[in-house]
This record gives sequence, C-alpha cells and structure tokens, in this order.
Amino acid sequence: MNIGEKLKRICAVTAFLFTLSGCANVPESTESFFAMNTYMTFTVCGENSEQALRDAHNKIDELEKLWSVTDENSDIYAINHSGGTAVEVNGLTAELIDFSLDMAHRTGGALDPTIYPILTAWGFTTGENRIPSESEIAELKKNVGYNKVKSDNNRVTLENGMMLDLGAVGKGFAGDITAELLSEQGIESALLDIGGNIHALGSKPDGSDWQIGLRNPFDGGILGTLGISDAAVVTSGNYERYFIGDDGKKYGHIINPESGYPVENDLASVTIIGSEGKMCDALSTALFVMGYDKAVEYWRNDGSFDMILITDSGTVNVTEGIYEKFTLTSDYSGFMTFKIEK
Ligand code: AMP
Ligand code: MG
Repeated sequence: MNIGEKLKRICAVTAFLFTLSGCANVPESTESFFAMNTYMTFTVCGENSEQALRDAHNKIDELEKLWSVTDENSDIYAINHSGGTAVEVNGLTAELIDFSLDMAHRTGGALDPTIYPILTAWGFTTGENRIPSESEIAELKKNVGYNKVKSDNNRVTLENGMMLDLGAVGKGFAGDITAELLSEQGIESALLDIGGNIHALGSKPDGSDWQIGLRNPFDGGILGTLGISDAAVVTSGNYERYFIGDDGKKYGHIINPESGYPVENDLASVTIIGSEGKMCDALSTALFVMGYDKAVEYWRNDGSFDMILITDSGTVNVTEGIYEKFTLTSDYSGFMTFKIEK
C-alpha cells in the first residue's frame, strides 16, 4: 500500500471533527472527494449551490497543485528543490508562507514550517516510520529554522538543504479561500469539512447553528458536539497519524521543533474555534506543541479565538466564549469539563 492509500484509510476513520448537519428544507449540493491527502466533504445550500460547489472543488484542486510537497510542478516543490536560489511563487502561496512565518514568530517557533527534514527522518512523509538517532536529529536540526527563510514580494529563498511544509496551515487557508469564493457567488450558507478542518459559512438556512462532532482522542467516539456559525474549527493531536516504535512508545506526526521529537506533553488534543481557518489551523498545531499551561497563557494574551483542550488525563477544558455551545454526548458524560476563564 502506498502512502496515499494509507492516508486515505487513516483519514476515513480518524478525522477529529466532523459535520452533523445539512441544509434541511433548502436546495443542497454535497460532494465528498479526496484532495490534499485527506477526505473533504462540502455541503452548499441555496439555489446556485451546484455550480458553486463545482467551483469550490476546482479551487481546492488548484491550491493543491500550488502547495503539494510532492507534485513536481508545485510552488513548494520548486522552493524545496531550488538549491538556495530565490523562487517566484503565486501570490496565494506567498501569502500562506508569510502568514506561516509570522505565526512561527508569534508562537516562539512552536509552529515551524521548515520542520520537514525532521518529519521525513521519522518517516511521516513516506509511511516508513522509524526512530532516528539523537545524532541524526541534531544534524537535521541545522536544516530547520523559520528565521532563515527569506520571503519578499512573492520571492522565496530557502538555504540549501532546508524544506518547507505547509501541512499545518494550508488546509485552514484553503477553507478561508473557498468560503470566500462561495460567498462571492451569493452563497450564504455552507459547511466545508476539509479533512476534519471545519469551515462554516453563515449559519444553517433556518438561522440555527451548524452542529459539529468532536471526537474523543482516546477511542475515536463522539465526545461532544459544538454549535457554530460563521466560524472555523480545527483540531490537532497525535491521535490521527502516529506509529508505535520498537520501544513500544507512541510517536505522533506533530514535532516539537525545539527537541526534534514528536510532541509528548499533557495534551491529547487541541481544538481552536475562530473566524479565520488559517489562524485556527496554525494555532491548533502550535498550541498542541506548547502544552496546557502555555496554550492557556497564549489564549489569555491573544483573546481572538476560543479553544477546547483535552488533557492526557481526560479532562475537557473549554474557554468561556463557547462553553455554552459545547455539549458532552451521553456516552462520555463522565468526562470532567472545566471552563477556562480570562
Ligand atoms: P495539523 O494537523 O494542522 O496539526 O498539522 C500537522 C502537520 O504539520 C504534520 O503532519 C506535519 O506535516 C506538519 N508539522 C508537524 N509538526 C509541525 C510543527 N511543529 N510546525 C509546523 N508544522 C508541523
Ligand atoms: Mg494545524
């Protein structure tokens, strides 16, 4: 089985978030497809929904062609194989890179879009997982560091040996771009599931919230539901993509750039709720790397988003802005829920 097929299997069963509602009594178009290494399901409501949905799908294909790490014609491939020379990229690629670099800076390097060489050493890019030696990780860390990327006027320069991977932010930005495209076509109500990154355009046609299911990171069951309108919801955790090493330990696909090792802290998953998909995506990854205390500190200082932190001991911690919108399902009513306040 190649990596694409493996990912298809993993994604089919383990997306952290999924949609629980449709358009009800209004014309609706729905399509599920595989793109950007994940399953997507788009539900678009309204008269013009069929054409709008087709355009949205085409837009995703277009973005995938720009941002794929493996497609030899993509912007990211060109940057990663430039041998240290400047590469001219599409405006959207430049915007995504600049945003990622800015978020890397703002999160103190917890998010690092240059982590790819280390991710590869752990086998997460090929599916051939292994535990690299400490000296190998130390050597590869020389090729990692968002501070070394130069980006100016749609021209991006990486040092020879470095590689960019926008996997932690690209799907979120794709959600923003697609939602905007739908909105420009007069669509007021749509729900985009981009491999478990949810983007809600407006509310349901009847004015009520879209209902989103949040999985239990320990067993994959439906832990709770969240009502949202006009918002993005993105979850990160090491439940989705991981392997069990020869030492019997679980190693996940999110790397702590400081150590070069998969994240191992007091968090099982981080869900970010906010107005922009790219911001939610960047923060879900970064706050997962940070661990509980630093994640809460970041939220208190920033204040522009809400979040649900599930700790490794199984507590569910919900920020005050969405506390009333989150409901545990009856199967998991024994989970302790806490409100995180300013
Ligand atoms: P997400 O699912 O949005 O949390 O993104 C995880 C993906 O981002 C991984 O599969 C890697 O491709 C990449 N990645 C892993 N660790 C990091 C990190 N610390 N910073 C940026 N990207 C990362
Ligand atoms: Mg992310």
